[in-house]
Amino acid sequence: MDTVNMLNEKKIKTTKYRIEILDFLIKEENRFISIDEIQEKVSSDFSTAYRALELFEENNFIYKTKIKEKFYYTYRCDEGKNHHHLICTECGLKIVLDFCPFETLEKKYYDLGFDSFYHSRDFFGVCQNCKDQNIID
Ligand SMILES: [Zn+2]
Ligand SMILES: [Zn+2]
Ligand SMILES: [Zn+2]
Repeated sequence: MDTVNMLNEKKIKTTKYRIEILDFLIKEENRFISIDEIQEKVSSDFSTAYRALELFEENNFIYKTKIKEKFYYTYRCDEGKNHHHLICTECGLKIVLDFCPFETLEKKYYDLGFDSFYHSRDFFGVCQNCKDQNIID
């Protein structure tokens, strides 16, 4: 779907920056991106980028996670469906797992009488490419 239509559908006012930011996140949907990079890419100021990202998150267009104490953003994958991400802490690469590795654990949890099981969606590590490039100190 066209970005403008996506925003219109949610009754979000379309602005040049909002369209550019959402387009950028869709184009780079296989990785997590910092607000600094987003802001630089579209040449907006920080608060414009921040407000746009907040709005997109509220409307479920994007998902954010923390890497090394900083927030990174990605276009939503598999809307609604429960899934996990493998994330590279160096380049933000996102690999989507379409299964839950914790089903046995979850069963155990309920067997033990616990309730309302939840766990994190994200797993972190360093990808092959970053490992090869030796960019980790
Ligand atoms: Zn996802
Ligand atoms: Zn990487
Ligand atoms: Zn799971």
